[in-house]
Amino acid sequence: MLQNSWIFIILLCLFSLIIGSFLSMLVYRIPIILFRQWHAECQSFLSEYQNKFANKRKMNIALPRSHCPHCQQTLRWYHNIPLFGYLIQKGKCGFCHTSIAIRYPLIELAAAILPLICFIQFGNTLVFYFSCIFSWALILQTYIDIEHHIIPDQITLPMLWFGLLINLQHTFTDIQSAILGAVIGYLGLWLFARIFQLITKKEGMGHGDFKLLAMLGAWLGWQYLPFVVLLSSSLGAIIGIAILFVQKKHKNTPFAFGPYLAFAGWIVLLFGQPITQWYFNLFLG
Ligand SMILES: [Zn+2]
Repeated sequence: MLQNSWIFIILLCLFSLIIGSFLSMLVYRIPIILFRQWHAECQSFLSEYQNKFANKRKMNIALPRSHCPHCQQTLRWYHNIPLFGYLIQKGKCGFCHTSIAIRYPLIELAAAILPLICFIQFGNTLVFYFSCIFSWALILQTYIDIEHHIIPDQITLPMLWFGLLINLQHTFTDIQSAILGAVIGYLGLWLFARIFQLITKKEGMGHGDFKLLAMLGAWLGWQYLPFVVLLSSSLGAIIGIAILFVQKKHKNTPFAFGPYLAFAGWIVLLFGQPITQWYFNLFLG
């Protein structure tokens, strides 16, 4: 017995030494790999940044006050009234008459209509309030992804943790399904994207998409993920082909997948249960 434990200790030391030399290699290489990756990303980002965002006024979420992005004039209070501001100005800046981006009234409209549908579906319940927060976050992610092809972690990750927290109380699903949903959502899409990349030699999806599906998994539970992926990819294919056809763009034009994931996730949060019910009734009578 004593001899066995000595053998075990010696083997453990030898094995750990090998692991140690592997760790020292990682300590050396991981930062270099990351720094090179960041350097490449920074270089490609900087050229775009110089044209688009540099030389603008100092900005945070609160300051400066709302202004026309074209002539920089600070807006009057009535220009800021949601939806009506746009209608009063007939879709043009009151100072320089540049057209106001259609996204302003569209976002305002969506921010009002989605909670209304949530209310019709859930009534005045806790689930309704959570589904409002979910809807507003998805609107934000959708528009940022459409315009800039990024889905900021600053929105996705807090929403992922929040989804897990509220499902501790079985709000939309049980906590096991929520945790598995977050893990499978991220890894599933990551795996799919890697295989896609190996086959086509093209980067098809961004990490923002993986994290968004992880967030949806945390809110909905893993059981709904296949449906979310199926719905979003079918929609993405149909609308993507339509856009290519109408705008006559090249088929390698970058294409935001986040909005389709967000739309499918929202449909499932609201109507996942009735849809599954209907599906089972249809096939199992
Ligand atoms: Zn203006």
